[in-house]
Amino acid sequence: MPGTLEKSGTRLALGDLTLTALSDGYLDIPAAYFSNVTPTEQQAVSPSTRFGANTWLIETGTRKILVDAGSGDCLKERFPASGALTWQAPEKATERAAVTDIVITHMHADHIGGLSVNGNSLFPNAVIHLQATEWDFWTDEALLTTAPEDKRPMVGLIQALAKPIGNQLRLHRGDTDLGNGITLISAPGHTPGHQAVHLSADSREMILLADVVVSDALQFANPEVRYALDSDPVLAVETRKTLFDRLSADRIPFAATHLSTERFGYLDTRGNGFAFVEV
Ligand SMILES: [Zn+2]
Repeated sequence: MPGTLEKSGTRLALGDLTLTALSDGYLDIPAAYFSNVTPTEQQAVSPSTRFGANTWLIETGTRKILVDAGSGDCLKERFPASGALTWQAPEKATERAAVTDIVITHMHADHIGGLSVNGNSLFPNAVIHLQATEWDFWTDEALLTTAPEDKRPMVGLIQALAKPIGNQLRLHRGDTDLGNGITLISAPGHTPGHQAVHLSADSREMILLADVVVSDALQFANPEVRYALDSDPVLAVETRKTLFDRLSADRIPFAATHLSTERFGYLDTRGNGFAFVEV
């Protein structure tokens, strides 16, 4: 049913849940990362296109649930404007200690870098929710030698970032009810165990898509556009189309990590594709 949002913008109330977007900065991504594009589409993102880096905080009254933790310091060299949340700052210790749960949508460094600093977990009291498929894929030591050579530094970084959180994990298999109207939805393709988050309250709903869509400049109008970091680009396209159809048919408000806005929006159909309309 249509969502009647009590607040618009970067914070919204959904029944007893409050959802707040927290921006971790931005990343400028080279046009060469996109394929299956027309020359006009290529032109639109040349030489680079700006990705936002959104994370979210869900408050239930008793729980404070982060969805992703941003980059921390680990991508600063390549993306100087990443890691803006600075969870590692000492003055954020109290805020960090109050976090009860963290949903990790997938294990790319721009989503897990903020979970630790120098090998120490920054959120000692939080249960970290991940798909088992995702954890098993990235922490397999063989991946360091079986991954394509140009991806091995990324694998090494992810494995280093995984170590400090190993004893805080709750691994899930497929769609999972986390209570308080929060459900993990399996959304594979971008990575093997990539997941989105569905929120519902009082017959209203909302979806956090994470990296089901990465480029708002290209993939709403053309969901077939592929991204170099998709581990299975064909499955990523399939997942994107399935969720886009659902969002537009049911007029569900949503957000996604790399949209160039922190605001929530709806998907309208437009031509053969879709268009994002801010709430
Ligand atoms: Zn990402």
